[in-house]
Amino acid sequence: MKLIIHGGFFSESSQSAETKLAKQEALKRIITSSYEFLRAHSAFETVIHAVAQLEDDPLFNAGTGSQIQSDGVIRMSASIMDGVSQRFSGVINIEEVKNPIRVAEKLFPADDRVLGGAGATRFARENGFPVFSTEIPQRRKEYEEKKRAAKVTGTVGCVAFDAKGHIAAATSTGGKGFEIPGRISDSATTAGNYANGFCGVSCTGVGEDIVSTAVATKIVTRISDGMDIENAFRKTFAELKEIDGFAGAIAIDHKGNVFHLDSHPSMVFASYDGSTFNCFD
Ligand code: ASP
Repeated sequence: MKLIIHGGFFSESSQSAETKLAKQEALKRIITSSYEFLRAHSAFETVIHAVAQLEDDPLFNAGTGSQIQSDGVIRMSASIMDGVSQRFSGVINIEEVKNPIRVAEKLFPADDRVLGGAGATRFARENGFPVFSTEIPQRRKEYEEKKRAAKVTGTVGCVAFDAKGHIAAATSTGGKGFEIPGRISDSATTAGNYANGFCGVSCTGVGEDIVSTAVATKIVTRISDGMDIENAFRKTFAELKEIDGFAGAIAIDHKGNVFHLDSHPSMVFASYDGSTFNCFD
């Protein structure tokens, strides 16, 4: 069993050493408890469980602690993909729910599996998700100072490889911050979150770059076609570089290989296999 999670990007220039330590500690706490969960649950159940915990931690830009858009409103996006059934479900620009990933989970068995905007929020209410403000004072302060945080993103994601060798991926975001209302994040698209029987990938970074390069889809497709995980990442990130793209990605393949790469320093990530814990530094 293997697990890898990410918490977006960390910028040495604009974030403190205390924040770095706090993020490292949060990742360690969440990955170890999620690994315990994985012992008795599937990869699919585990990625949802891990991402919901990351959403609940205000250190990260997903769920509580999400960025505020240019009109002062928080709109969040999240998606899940199960590598076994190859079903994908997600919500785009949903408002005032505690855990967008749980709404994506609710949509998973439905025929219409990706909902956006008012439709996504209405679906959440109709399915018992109460109104919940995910705003924290720090994000309001950043918003009021009009500090663009495009390079200090803190989207969250998880890829899990369970005892049966099944793979799943989940990703959740509050977006780039200060975006035009209606902007679509990569996090609830197959460019930002993708899995099949061969590999699962979750991305973070500038959504427009991730969509332009189809990062998650390409990595998974390359591995499905026989390329090894490192070369699949290197080739995809070389293509990202052609457009001067900004992104990071985490993955686990069908052999249990765990990999991550970022285009810029440094993606906040942690991986765990029950004995060895790896974390960004
Ligand atoms: N990828 C997200 C987006 O563009 C942002 C992030 O990863 O932090 O919406």
